[in-house]
Amino acid sequence: MAKENTAPDMNASASSIERACIEKGMKMTDQRRVIARVLSDATDHPDVEGVFRRASEIDPKISIATVYRTLRLFDIANIIDRHEFGDGRARYEVAAEGSHHHHLIDMKTGRVLEFENEELENIKRRIARELGYQLVGERLELYGVPFGTGDGASESDNEG
Ligand SMILES: [Zn+2]
Repeated sequence: MAKENTAPDMNASASSIERACIEKGMKMTDQRRVIARVLSDATDHPDVEGVFRRASEIDPKISIATVYRTLRLFDIANIIDRHEFGDGRARYEVAAEGSHHHHLIDMKTGRVLEFENEELENIKRRIARELGYQLVGERLELYGVPFGTGDGASESDNEG
């Protein structure tokens, strides 16, 4: 009978994070490998608790302290990106090598939408250049509420 468990085989091909860690000369323990796999498989932007929950399903012996330490390590090594989407909680995703995307945070649901915009990239580079700088880093998030949901619909309403 087919098993309910559809989790990827841990012995299957190394996750992209694991490969990046090995390239940077980091020692890969089994637990780090599990956390790397969780992040590689994530299609959202989990916070520490989220990573911990998913990692625990694969290896119940993993502690949240290990998750904290490992995420910090991956972050320092630029293997993952750390975001804060206005709620003060750090969220993580695999650092995008080629593609560059930004985030729009739905203030009603907390949903995070990813987008890419070439025009925006050009504008950012141009602003930096006009100020005499080469752009090497940035932090940009958009926050919004869906149209037609009541709040924020009345933009002509000045409150201050
Ligand atoms: Zn993202």
